[in-house]
Amino acid sequence: MHVISTRGGDRCTVVEALQRGLARDGGLYVPEHWLRFTPADFAGQDALCDIAAVLLRPFLADSPLAGEVDAICREALDFDTPLVALNDGRTHLLELFHGPTGAFKDVGARVLAACLSRLRPADAADLTVLVATSGDTGSAVAGAFHRRPGFKVAVLFPEHGVSPRQKHLLSCFGDNVASFAVDGTFDDCQAMVKAAFANAELQAAVPLTSANSISIGRLLPQMAYYAQAALRHARRGGAALNFAIPSGNLGNALAAIWVRALGLPVGDIAIVTNANRALPDFFASGEYRPRPSIATIANAMDVGAPSNLERLRAGFADAGGLHTLAVDDDTIRSRVRAFLAEFDTVLCPHTATAAEFVAQRRAAADPRDWAIVATAHPAKFETVVEPLIGRGVPVPEPLARWLRQPAQARPLRAQAEALATALRAG
Ligand SMILES: *Cc1c(COP(=O)(O)O)cnc(C)c1O
Repeated sequence: MHVISTRGGDRCTVVEALQRGLARDGGLYVPEHWLRFTPADFAGQDALCDIAAVLLRPFLADSPLAGEVDAICREALDFDTPLVALNDGRTHLLELFHGPTGAFKDVGARVLAACLSRLRPADAADLTVLVATSGDTGSAVAGAFHRRPGFKVAVLFPEHGVSPRQKHLLSCFGDNVASFAVDGTFDDCQAMVKAAFANAELQAAVPLTSANSISIGRLLPQMAYYAQAALRHARRGGAALNFAIPSGNLGNALAAIWVRALGLPVGDIAIVTNANRALPDFFASGEYRPRPSIATIANAMDVGAPSNLERLRAGFADAGGLHTLAVDDDTIRSRVRAFLAEFDTVLCPHTATAAEFVAQRRAAADPRDWAIVATAHPAKFETVVEPLIGRGVPVPEPLARWLRQPAQARPLRAQAEALATALRAG
C-alpha cells in the first residue's frame, strides 16, 4: 500500500515511509486510502500478535516484508494487552504496560525495530538510532533495538528530568545502547538531536536514523490493541467500546481514530491531556496554537505542540465521536487517590487523566462502557505515585529484571558539539 504526505507533496510505499520517518516535503505520512475490515476478518484471533498481523498484512502487501508479517508480529508482540473489567461492570482498564519497558511505546517501537532490522542489508554499515526522550520513548526504543545486529542506539535524556527508576531503565541496557545523561532539559536534548541530523559531515561518519513517534511504523501497530480490546468487548456481548486516552503527541489516540476508520467496533474516543492544552483548545476553537510545553507530573504528556495533530487535521478532525479534556496536576493527584479507593487499582499519573475523564462522564450519567487506556505501569512513576497513596508500588517482572541490571549513563554537556564528539568516538 502507498502512503501520502499530509502536505500533499510526497507519495511512497509503507516500507519507504518506515525507513524515512518524516515525509520528503516535511509532512507526515498517512494511508492513501482506507481499507474496511469486519470482525469476521479476525475470526478465531485473540492474541495481540495475531490481530496485529491481520491489520498490518494489507499495509505491507507487495513489499519486501510481505512474507514476514507473521514473524515480525510474533517476535515484537510477545506480551498481552489485557482489557480488565473493573468492579462497576462498565469501566475497563486497557493495560498497555506489560511489555519489556512498562509503557505502551513498546508496541510501536518493537514492531518498527523488527521491520527495520529485516530491511537492513547484511553488509551495510551500522546505523545509529538517535533518540531524545523525556522517559518512556527512550527505554522502549533502546529495548527494541538492544542487541540487534547492524544497529546502535544513542539515548539522550535530561539528567534531572526523569524519575530514578526511569533513569535506571534508560541506562541499563549496555551492549549496543549508549545512554547520555544531559545536563539540560528535554528541549536541550531535542535540539542536540536535531543538530546532529542537520550535520551532514557527522552523518557521513556516523549514519543516523530516528525512531520517533511521528514514524508511521509506530502508529500502525498501535491500532492492534484497540482492535483487540474492541473485539474482546464485542465477543463478550458489548456494544462499541469507548476509549479515554492519555495524550501528548497524539500518536496513541490517532491509532484509535484510524482503527475506527478501518471499521472496528470502536465508539467514542476521548483525547485527554494534562495541563498542556493545545489539543482541547484546538477542538474548542478550531484554531491551533502551538506553545511551549508546561512541566507536569504526567511528564510523558508534556507536549506543547503535538506534531500528530497534522495527521488528525488531514481528514479526521471533524470525525465525530471525539471528546477532549485537559486535567491539571491537582486533579491528577486526587484522581489517583479516588481511583484506588473506588476500584482498588493504582494508576500512573498519565492514566489518571483518562480516569478523570471517565469519572466526569459518570457524574454526567453516561452509562456506557468506557475503557481507560493505561499507558504506563505506575511503578515507573514511583516518586509521584507512592507519596500519593502512602505505600510502595510493586515492580512487575519484566521491569524488575531490567532494574536489577547495573546502570551506567555517560554525562554529556548540553551542547551539539559534545554529542557529535561522543557519537564519533562510538
Ligand atoms: C508517550 C506517553 C503518553 C502520550 O502518548 P502520545 O502518543 O504522545 O499521545 C501518555 N502516557 C505515557 C505513559 C507515555 O509514555
